[in-house]
Amino acid sequence: MTRRRISILGATGSIGASTLDLIRRDKEHWQVIALTANCQAEELAKLAREFSAEVAVVADESCLPTLRDALAGAQTEAMGGAAALVDAAARPTDITLAAIVGCAGLAPTMAAIEQGQVVALANKEALVSAGDVMTAAVKRHGTVLLPVDSEHNAIFQCLAGNDPAHVRSITLTASGGPFRDWSAAQLAAATPAQAVRHPNWDMGAKISVDSATMFNKGLELIEAFHLFPVGLDRLRIIVHPQSVVHSMVEYRDGSTLAQLGPSDMRVPIASALAWPARMDTPCAPLDLAALGELTFRAPDEERFPATRLCREAAEAGGATSAVLNAANEIAVAAFLGGKLPFTRIAVTVEELLGRYAPPAPASLDDVIAIDAEARRRARAVMELA
Ligand code: NDP
Repeated sequence: MTRRRISILGATGSIGASTLDLIRRDKEHWQVIALTANCQAEELAKLAREFSAEVAVVADESCLPTLRDALAGAQTEAMGGAAALVDAAARPTDITLAAIVGCAGLAPTMAAIEQGQVVALANKEALVSAGDVMTAAVKRHGTVLLPVDSEHNAIFQCLAGNDPAHVRSITLTASGGPFRDWSAAQLAAATPAQAVRHPNWDMGAKISVDSATMFNKGLELIEAFHLFPVGLDRLRIIVHPQSVVHSMVEYRDGSTLAQLGPSDMRVPIASALAWPARMDTPCAPLDLAALGELTFRAPDEERFPATRLCREAAEAGGATSAVLNAANEIAVAAFLGGKLPFTRIAVTVEELLGRYAPPAPASLDDVIAIDAEARRRARAVMELA
């Protein structure tokens, strides 16, 4: 049996851990090439030893000495820095799991795409920022881009075997996050600890805050716009607090196909790892009788303006989504650091979108330059606030 070669970008994160959990259960089928982190060098070294990775990379070069020490005597090569991360992502694989958080994952994800194999994409910010630059690279290199985000993985499954020309609408479900029933006054006083406590999913800090602001759903709308080109007017969002229906596709004949499953990222990750086949997961089967009822409601864009901002950014096209994403990343980091009130996240994003409108990017370098400048300006916007 030939083992499938896999690299996991963002191996020390929540998606990285879920992916490695699945691989751990079926180790003889997998050969781990690259595992990467930002600076959690000891945790990365532990994983690299466990999975006999070919190379382990910390993006933050100052963490390389710790990684080297922790890998002393191991067969894994230790590397550090942004260029090393891209080099590692370019090493030949059969599948790469792109699970770095934020636009920091863009360059390595593009390097993986350029291999022309399979890229399983969790790192939504990379696609949101690069948009057409990434989808053009996917086409050019004949890469298979498999969505790992549970909603997009659900849509991908619901579209299988159907002609996209027959799609009437695609509906992304949103849990609504931990604050879905909070008043505007409560939202203004929301703390980072409250924001990262998601009712249904156990995720990294940044996406948890995005889920609380609804920027996560907005970013997903932009992600869906690029992955499933049926037109923005056919993409919808609905709040579904139980997170059991992960998304749906409605066809012209009135049929709606939905994908259901437990709120466990190992399900969509397994779908991508095994695609086009299926594999076992340790997730408990769905017990709909125990759940009793599934509920749905329209999103409230007064309290949560993020989905409106993202829809407008997708409509505007060009560099707008890259600017929006960068501003959101900076504002979320400031909120998590106790320097920005929760409701100022969306305000910061909207203010920057009103002030900075660079020309559309034509290359990866353009996107990276726009991202860097938008970050600088977002910090300035926050200082003015
Ligand atoms: P985590 O914060 O848990 O993990 C992020 C990973 O990226 C870690 O390995 C981290 O390394 C690494 N990283 C952080 N900053 C950098 C950087 N500047 N350069 C290189 N690597 C970096 O995030 P999640 O696993 O929650 O999310 C990862 C991606 O998947 C995000 O884009 C998110 O939106 C998406 N996603 C996540 C879901 C979830 O359930 N968690 C669901 C759907 C999508 P270190 O540990 O050293 O900091």
